[in-house]
Amino acid sequence: MNNTCPKSSKCPIFQGGVLKRENSEKVYRNLYCNAGASKYETCMRYKISELIGKPAPLTVLPNCSKPIEDIIENME
Ligand code: SF4
Repeated sequence: MNNTCPKSSKCPIFQGGVLKRENSEKVYRNLYCNAGASKYETCMRYKISELIGKPAPLTVLPNCSKPIEDIIENME
């Protein structure tokens, strides 16, 4: 079974090199991206992409606690 998020090939957090602390990306990958559907489906970036079919802004991290509606509203 593939435990990796299906959005990983286009996701900057997964691809790496975008966050100031490189270790944070590794932590997110372990906690979300490579942790199976039960985890990556809780990632805020994943949820936004599923909902509106567009990638979330880079400022949105997997564990973002803002309401999803607010994030999407600010994108439009
Ligand atoms: S779990 Fe989230 S951060 Fe990781 S690849 Fe999927 S959308 Fe990107």
